[in-house]
Amino acid sequence: MQYTILGATGSIGIQALDVVERLGGEVLAITGNTNAALMEAQIRRHQPKYAAMADEAIAKRLRVAVADTPCEVLGGEDGVARCAEIPCDMTLNAIVGIAGLRPTLAAIEAGNKLALANKESLVAGGALVMERAKARGIDILPVDSEHSAIFQAIQGSPRAVKRLILTASGGAFFGKTLEELRGVTIQQALKHPSWSMGAKITIDSATMMNKGFEVIEAAWLFRLPPAQIDVLIHRQSIVHSLAEFTDHSVLAQLGNPDMRLPIQYAFTYPARMQAIVPPLDLAQIGALTFEPPDDAVFPAVNLCRKAFEMGWEATVALNAANEAANEMFRAGECGFLDIVQTNEEAVARVPRVCESPCLGDILELDAAVRMAVRGHC
Ligand code: NAD
Ligand code: MG
Repeated sequence: MQYTILGATGSIGIQALDVVERLGGEVLAITGNTNAALMEAQIRRHQPKYAAMADEAIAKRLRVAVADTPCEVLGGEDGVARCAEIPCDMTLNAIVGIAGLRPTLAAIEAGNKLALANKESLVAGGALVMERAKARGIDILPVDSEHSAIFQAIQGSPRAVKRLILTASGGAFFGKTLEELRGVTIQQALKHPSWSMGAKITIDSATMMNKGFEVIEAAWLFRLPPAQIDVLIHRQSIVHSLAEFTDHSVLAQLGNPDMRLPIQYAFTYPARMQAIVPPLDLAQIGALTFEPPDDAVFPAVNLCRKAFEMGWEATVALNAANEAANEMFRAGECGFLDIVQTNEEAVARVPRVCESPCLGDILELDAAVRMAVRGHC
């Protein structure tokens, strides 16, 4: 099997290369953004035919550094999209943010099977991505642990699903009051209780925007309205999500919190291969707990539901505002509570553009909302 790993230098990308290696697969192409040192090490270890850095200047430097290898180094957004469309057996999109949307569409247009970690592709471009995937007959295999869990649970009776229940760890600030959240620091927000992930998604977990995005992601992947997608706080991150069927049977997928398992399942689906992750020891875990989220302190999930109902402009605005505000919080330029507040304002102000957007419409609105958020905060 030949794999392309987009976002290979990130948290998911690094774990995906480990999975490919253990499955005995071949790496055809890898992409990154600015981390040339890691990309060079990955080129030497995995010997891909192609590599791309989204940053042109870094790509130039990398080209010189790996001149002794047969790897062709491409640069810029075009280079990343080019890697996505090289024919292969499986393309994993583990790029963070809206930057993943064009590569998602490029992989689909090229007819490549797509393992999708980049949830922002579906938040900002769900209708377009799903329409193109259907038209090209492409399977989108979820990598997000909740969606992988549901995908596994519904095998056999996908049409009898009545309700989905996404589990949420609650992030770094579970149980805090609004007053307590006002002064939290970046370091506190970056401490996730159960998962080790990239900085943007870790902050999104603390605000619960991540869970809201996952409701939208599930709505597109499993074709259910957000009203049929619930969220339940589950601090142990062992039950990765659940599906309720018409007969009220509820099926869940359980496992240790290790992203290599959903990555492996997406890569080997419908088969199951030898485990990479350690077995689950429920006796040692002892108790699994569940409770409803506090929507008054964490309004992000309901904001995402509302944006989905409003249409594509609202979810594009929501994603763009969140990316800008998340980045500004990490740079110390705004407070923690400003993130969701900014997102709410962006959704409230969103213009109506057109019925069915193309990639250009989405990227244009995304850029306008980002600029407005940066100018406003
Ligand atoms: P990360 O920040 O660790 O890695 C992001 C990757 O994207 C890096 O390889 C980086 O070089 C690349 N990248 C960044 N900006 C880019 C740009 N402009 N153009 C091209 N490439 C760019 O992020 P991550 O935690 O690995 O998350 C990746 C995606 O997977 C996100 O969409 C996230 O929501 C999703 N996801 C992550 C986890 C997790 O456990 N980390 C779990 C579920 C879903
Ligand atoms: Mg998730």
